[in-house]
Amino acid sequence: MDLFEYQARDLFEAHGIPVLAGKVATTPHEAKRAAAGMGGKVVVKAQVKIGGRGKAGGVKLATDPDDAFAKAEAILGMDIKGHTVHKVMIAQAAPIKEEYYLAILLDRAARSFLVMASVAGGMDIEQVAHETPEKLAKVHIDPAKGIDAALAQSIAQQAQFPSDVQKQVADVLVKLWACFVAEDATLVEVNPLVKTEDGRVIALDGKVTLDDNAGFRHPDHEALVDHASTNPLEALAKEKDLNYVKLDGQVGIIGNGAGLVMSTLDVVAYAGEKFGGMKPANFLDIGGGASAQVMADGLSIILNDKDVKCVFVNVFGGITACDAVANGIIQALEMLGNKATKPIVVRLDGNNVLEGRRILKEANHPLVEQAETMDGAAARAAELAAK
Ligand code: GDP
Ligand code: MN
Repeated sequence: MDLFEYQARDLFEAHGIPVLAGKVATTPHEAKRAAAGMGGKVVVKAQVKIGGRGKAGGVKLATDPDDAFAKAEAILGMDIKGHTVHKVMIAQAAPIKEEYYLAILLDRAARSFLVMASVAGGMDIEQVAHETPEKLAKVHIDPAKGIDAALAQSIAQQAQFPSDVQKQVADVLVKLWACFVAEDATLVEVNPLVKTEDGRVIALDGKVTLDDNAGFRHPDHEALVDHASTNPLEALAKEKDLNYVKLDGQVGIIGNGAGLVMSTLDVVAYAGEKFGGMKPANFLDIGGGASAQVMADGLSIILNDKDVKCVFVNVFGGITACDAVANGIIQALEMLGNKATKPIVVRLDGNNVLEGRRILKEANHPLVEQAETMDGAAARAAELAAK
C-alpha cells in the first residue's frame, strides 16, 4: 500500500524524523483555517499518489490564509496524471537553501535492502541516476546489521553531503531505517530532504510503501487505507479473502493457481484479437482447494462486474480433483440462483477430468458450456463476450 504524503509525514514524525507542521484539508475553508493556525505562510500541496506534483502545478506557496484558500480552491479537483485531487496538505513553508534525496527500499533483484542518497534532490531521481550516476550513492544494507550511526555517517560522506549537514543527514538515515523496519515498509523516500537557510535538515516530501503481507502485524495500518479509491469489487474480494484484481476487459476469469491464471489472461487476450479486441476482465486465483463456497464467492464477484459479458473458468485439477471442482461449480450456480446471468465456459483438465466433465454434462446447466482445451475455451469465451 502506498501512502499519501501527509500520512508519510505523520509516520516520519512518529519516528522522530524532522518534518514541518502539516495538516490535511478537503475544502478551501479547512485549508484557510489550517494556514491561519500555522502563522500564515504555507505551501498548499495536492495529495495524490503520484510523483511530479510540483511540475504539474499541484504544489503552491501561499502568502497568507486567504491566499491558502485561493490556492486550495485551485488545486482541489485538479487532475494530476489521471489522479483527481480530493485532499491538500497545508504545510508550514520552509526557506530552502539546498535540496537532497534520501531513500531506503527493498531491492528485489539483489535480495537486499538499498539506501540511495544524493545531493541532487528535488528532481526526478530516475533522471539523476540516468544522467549523472556519479551523484547517486547506492549502498546495500545487511538486514541483520541494519543502519547504525557509523554506517549512516559513512553513507552521508560517500554521497558527498556537505560536511556541515552530514551529522544531521546521518541522524535522519538512522531514524528512517528504524521507521522502515518498524513499519514493515518496502520503500521510504524523502525527496527533497532540505537544508534550510538556518542550517536545519528537514524531510519536506515523503513517499512510503508498506508491505501488505505484513499487515497482520500492524492493525493500525488499516486506518491508512484509502477506501474511497479502492475498487468496490476488489474490496469485496478482499473481504472474501480472494486474490482478485480488476482489469478492463470483458471476459471474467477464474482459475486455480496464479501461474495458470496469468497464462489464461494471455491466452484470452490473444484469442480476443479475433473477436473485436475482447480482453480479460480480471485476475482471480481461487487457489488449490476450490470449494463450492469459494467458487460461488468468485463467480458472484465476477458476475457483479458490469463489464463482464462472459466467464471463463479454467481449472487444472491437482490435489483438488476435477470432479470436486465440477460439483463446486454446480453448487455455486445453485447458490447464486437467478443472480447468475452470463454464459460460463469451463475447461477442466488434470486429476479426474473425465468424471468432472461427466458431472457438468449431466447437470446440463443452461449457462455452462465445456471446452476441451485452454485455447478452444479462450476462443469460445471471447466469441461469447463479443456477442
Ligand atoms: P513532488 O513534485 O510531487 O515531488 O512534490 P514536492 O513536495 O517534492 O515539492 C516539489 C518542490 O516544491 C520541492 O522540490 C521544492 O522545491 C518546492 N517546495 C515544496 N515545499 C516547499 C516549501 O515549504 N518551501 C519552498 N520554498 N519550496 C517548497
Ligand atoms: Mn518530491
